[in-house]
Amino acid sequence: MVSLKQLVKNPLKVFGNGAKSTKGFQPEVFDRHVMTTYGRFPLTLTRGAGSRVWDGQGNEYLGFVEGIATCTLGHAHPVMVEAVTQQIQTLHHVSNLYYIPEQGALAQWLTEHSCTDRVFFCNSGAEANEAAIKLARKYGHTELGIDEPVIITANASFHGRTLATITATGQPKYQKNFAPLVPGFHYVPYNEIDALEAAIASLNANGPRVAAILLEALQGEGGVNPGNVAYFQRVRELCDQHNILLILDEVQVGVGRTGKLWGYENLGIEPDVITAAKGLGGGVPIGAMLCKSSCDVFQPGDHASTYGGNPFVCGVALAVCQTLDSENLMANASARGQQLRQGLLKLVDTYPHILEQVRGWGLINGLVLKADAPLKSLDIVKSATAQGLLLVPAGPNVVRFVPPLIVNASDINIALDKLATAIKQIA
Ligand SMILES: *Cc1c(COP(=O)(O)O)cnc(C)c1O
Repeated sequence: MVSLKQLVKNPLKVFGNGAKSTKGFQPEVFDRHVMTTYGRFPLTLTRGAGSRVWDGQGNEYLGFVEGIATCTLGHAHPVMVEAVTQQIQTLHHVSNLYYIPEQGALAQWLTEHSCTDRVFFCNSGAEANEAAIKLARKYGHTELGIDEPVIITANASFHGRTLATITATGQPKYQKNFAPLVPGFHYVPYNEIDALEAAIASLNANGPRVAAILLEALQGEGGVNPGNVAYFQRVRELCDQHNILLILDEVQVGVGRTGKLWGYENLGIEPDVITAAKGLGGGVPIGAMLCKSSCDVFQPGDHASTYGGNPFVCGVALAVCQTLDSENLMANASARGQQLRQGLLKLVDTYPHILEQVRGWGLINGLVLKADAPLKSLDIVKSATAQGLLLVPAGPNVVRFVPPLIVNASDINIALDKLATAIKQIA
């Protein structure tokens, strides 16, 4: 097996020329047959190794999108190759009608490495949040005696694209044209404690109605906006005081990305429920809802998923999680994140009329544009793509950096150089 060191040091040597031809692939034919729910870049990626991907013409890119914070170990990581191969050769799918040892092992790893006790497995972030919403509603009904439980969420949040999760998402652009939405949600500004206290007081004025507060530890999609420590500590107190469940959506920040295993560790509090997905499987589709046993109100028949927690995804996700420890990837995320932020701050100094600030934790970072800048985040992303650096906006004014956790110091420097050129060309 190829070692991580060899792979990261020289992916080309390990994998040969990264390019794989797209001969015969026609984007027009694709667009005729695939629904146009995405605004796609005119780019066809055909191969990946470590922190790099290649298009069909053989052009190399540094991947600082990585499946949107999903490819924790980058591409073609030997641990994933081994885990995927081993699992597909042994048993890939049965049903939750039977015990699945890989599922049990992953749940044990997750609970032993978090403040939670039990796990429900599904296939995506939205589904993990759906599970948490159902758990909160049942908790409201059976534990708090609420007929119509309310879940408080934040403006500028992102929780997924199913009906309940677009309702939870405090951004009207995701809800437009999909009414009627799911009842039972109430929105407050993020990181503003007075507004939250007022909302709870008014909703609970005639007896308890609030069952849960659902927040991101750091708002990813909404602009890479980290949670405030004092705010979250007060949120925890309010939840304890009113028997409200604190649910943290860690779909984007969980599983090592912030330099700590969980986003909440940056906030000095413990949630009652955590949702995870993106980075958990390193790119195989998996979601999980983790909760403390004190709020595990689910009984047989309450919730289910055909694929959820199958041997294949759990075997691979466990290998990904164990690699975070064995390869010290959280320490790497902290160090490389710091290096990246220092470089980005220099760019802010160079372009004060365009760039405003840098914010983030570990390897989830945002370069924030001035509100009145002559450019939008998408302009920078497009220019960076032309330089061989893949990035993704987090809203119109923030460029997001979510490289794989295996990224090394030289990759960060190359990315900063490419970005400097990209901004220079359009500034
Ligand atoms: C991406 C994301 C989701 C949705 O995850 P899917 O796997 O796309 O359903 C939910 N919450 C947060 C914070 C996310 O970043």
